[in-house]
Amino acid sequence: MKINKERLWDRIQMLGEIGQSTNGGITRLAFSKEDRKATDLVIGWMREAGLEVWTDPVGNVFGRREGTVKGPVVLTGSHLDTVRNGGKFDGAAGVLSALEVIQTLNDYNIETILPIEIVIFVNEEGSRYAGGLMGSMAIAGLLPESILDEKDNEGIPLSTALKEFGGMPNQIHAAKRPGSDFAAFYELHIEQSQTLEKEDKSAGIVLGIAGPYQMKVIIYGRSGHAGAVAMNLRNDPMVAAGIIIQEVEKVAKETAPTTRGTVGYVKAFPGGHNVIPEKVELTIDIRDINEETRERVVSRIQKTITKICDERGLKSETIVTQNTPPVPVNKETIEKMKQIANEEKIPFTTVTSGAAHDAMIMGKLCPIGMVFIRSINGLSHCPEEFSTREDLADGTQILLHLIKDTANPPIIE
Ligand SMILES: [Zn+2]
Repeated sequence: MKINKERLWDRIQMLGEIGQSTNGGITRLAFSKEDRKATDLVIGWMREAGLEVWTDPVGNVFGRREGTVKGPVVLTGSHLDTVRNGGKFDGAAGVLSALEVIQTLNDYNIETILPIEIVIFVNEEGSRYAGGLMGSMAIAGLLPESILDEKDNEGIPLSTALKEFGGMPNQIHAAKRPGSDFAAFYELHIEQSQTLEKEDKSAGIVLGIAGPYQMKVIIYGRSGHAGAVAMNLRNDPMVAAGIIIQEVEKVAKETAPTTRGTVGYVKAFPGGHNVIPEKVELTIDIRDINEETRERVVSRIQKTITKICDERGLKSETIVTQNTPPVPVNKETIEKMKQIANEEKIPFTTVTSGAAHDAMIMGKLCPIGMVFIRSINGLSHCPEEFSTREDLADGTQILLHLIKDTANPPIIE
């Protein structure tokens, strides 16, 4: 059984024309006219494939292929919204590969025991309205009502945009579905990094999605004149910040290949070129697919901050701004995917997902699995974002068998 890679590729190209600018970049912000047009195009294809299609109150679109029994569904899909001036593959690859799986099952007249549903999650990127992952958050019942008051750059509230898109802002809570609705959720996505390219593999089997732990560190020192205050009489918080930044890199490198540590923001107060700062703020973002590992890194960095500040006569304060647990993929799913890739002779390796995806939220409801496909030069969120027809086909082939096998569970007497 082989997916039809030309059909899949043609659809990627057709979808990629919606929201395309002259430089080839694609802008399909959540709930925009372009987002609507793209969603409608895919809905048309879903209906052609015989799916029963409906939209939930937050605008998530579902397409269902019945199984031979009533039971939990095997859910698969991704998003169609993009960042400003993004590419053709982020999100779209996951939705269209899901559709290709359904059509392949149709082509081969294969029935499944469990039903299969495709989902198009709304506002995954959060480029127009902050946050992102809105569709999956609503399904998991985690979307706060207050999000409806968010405004875009033009002052349009999310509630208005959602209504125009066809959603029902006063009923977003009704988008919630219980975990028992789902046997599993699977998402194909572009890698957005270069591991697969460096190892010359077309597909990546995702071991887990790293949850971000983010903190804001404020270091208090003593302000003074850059020329007048002698070097040995200073309590300079900026120098401490510099050492902490190096330490974050060092600890992350030393801990595990899956660990990431980033300082993405530093601000000095008052912030003059001839003034020793009295205060410095920085953010630290720590990620790993293993929560214990992540905790170890956080506590090591925290100890370093205290030590450096003590040595330099500084005070510090740490505020945890985000603590999203990592979502591991269970061993059976990983083994299953490896087995499929081997049988299908698809060159693969295991990877971790550093970026958040809807699968991370769906992991709160049911077992998840993710297949990555190679991103050329690791580029994404830009017009140059590209994956080849063959890599897309290879990833979809894994998704096909994973979905088919999950939807045909062994019957236990
Ligand atoms: Zn994406």
